[in-house]
Amino acid sequence: MNTTTPTFIDQAAIDGLLANTIPSDSGAVDAVIDKALEGKGLELHEAARLLRADDAATTERLFDAARRVKQAIYGRRLVLFAPVYLSNYCSNNCLYCGFRRDNKAMKRRALTMDELRHEIALLEQQGHKRILMLTGEDRGRSALDYLLEAIEVAYSVKTADGHGEIRRINVEIAPLSVPDFKRLKASGIGTYVLFQETYHRETYAVMHPPGPKADYANRLYAMDRALEAGLHDVGIGALLGLHDYRFEVLAMLAHARHLDQVFGTGPHTISVPRLEAAQNAPAANTAPHPVSDLNFKRLVAILRLAVPYTGIILSTREKADMRNALFALGVSQISAGSRTNPGGYSEATANHEDEQQFALGDTRSLEEVIRSVCEEGYIPSFCTGCYRLGRTGADFMDLAKPGDIKTHCDPNAVSTFLEYLTDYATPETRAIGERCIAAFLAEMSEPARRRTEALVERVRKGERDVLC
Ligand code: SAM
Ligand code: SF4
Repeated sequence: MNTTTPTFIDQAAIDGLLANTIPSDSGAVDAVIDKALEGKGLELHEAARLLRADDAATTERLFDAARRVKQAIYGRRLVLFAPVYLSNYCSNNCLYCGFRRDNKAMKRRALTMDELRHEIALLEQQGHKRILMLTGEDRGRSALDYLLEAIEVAYSVKTADGHGEIRRINVEIAPLSVPDFKRLKASGIGTYVLFQETYHRETYAVMHPPGPKADYANRLYAMDRALEAGLHDVGIGALLGLHDYRFEVLAMLAHARHLDQVFGTGPHTISVPRLEAAQNAPAANTAPHPVSDLNFKRLVAILRLAVPYTGIILSTREKADMRNALFALGVSQISAGSRTNPGGYSEATANHEDEQQFALGDTRSLEEVIRSVCEEGYIPSFCTGCYRLGRTGADFMDLAKPGDIKTHCDPNAVSTFLEYLTDYATPETRAIGERCIAAFLAEMSEPARRRTEALVERVRKGERDVLC
């Protein structure tokens, strides 16, 4: 496919929606917000109306609606995971990334399987059950065989007490062919994650000098190939700060709609990474289109209203205050205690600027994040149930849309959090967590509470991984 081949991203149409200068009267914006409150999502032109109306009164109404939709669909659950960087070798030269080929100051490293075992054991000892594996794109060192071996190794590592194990591995690696996606699926991964970085072709061309990643369309259609290969859950995203964030939001929605139309299910997750400083990465250190904190909150709220059943993932690129504010506005999954250099958990105390991909905004430990999540009124979840019980892709959406998924997620969140508190938490954190669980149970309907208490009872008696 050459650079002018049309794709499902209609740039002119998106620019047209954003350039519409007719002021949105408050009645029209109210109609969009009222529709969003029904939890049925928004069309592109409706999301564009919200993106254009950035006055303070509309923003307040937008935030209020996003809080209500988030609460109605996700309640107070927040799913936790940790990234695991396997290798920082890369043959690409993305202008925003510390792993770029031309960053000669980067100390390159690819974990051996023994080093990976050690990393995974450390994460398990902290209480993690879900990881996201990442690598740079290097045909030699980060080839698919290496990744598949790493997945097998990570799933096989168990702690001596039998409680520590990784139950779900999501993967964020360069796009594959359909046959290679089939091999990836066979390895038992959860979600395949890939960010388009920017959906704006001209910006994409500037940011990605010649190398495997320079092919915009190859990346854009990666999710089609993944779904065609039988992977059910895919996660999309844009690196915010490269181009107008409003364009990227509409393009992500167009991507979601395309997947829904072709495969009958939209993306499982949308990630919202904001550009962070990175070593020798010119575009990261002077973002071409910086996204202000207020606009960042607005875009998360608009995504929440536009695709209410798609999880929104926030990483430790953001600082603690911003993370806390975004839980209410739409974020449903967060990474915690993260390191972005290969081997980062084994050598967490050292300064690894010369091995890490970008700087972190939130450097708190998993336990500190958990305490803060509880104090904010949310319940941390280590649940991996849906994927392991086959509730993925369209099956997941069929449960999610009528609101039935909560009947599984809420009890599973409590039982997996109680596992964490029992097996890993300090007495102080355990006390905070037990109060959090009690408050959560008190808010539940009678049948949901009974179902949850049955799981809680089993965990207290020593059973683990009790899913419903
Ligand atoms: N190398 C693969 C790729 O590019 O798709 C795998 C993922 S890469 C390790 C993870 C993601 O980090 C990239 O897709 C990019 O969006 C993000 N990233 C790179 N540089 C960043 C920066 N300076 N700040 C924030 N995120 C960044
Ligand atoms: Fe390599 Fe990915 Fe970084 Fe680009 S974003 S330089 S492909 S690791």
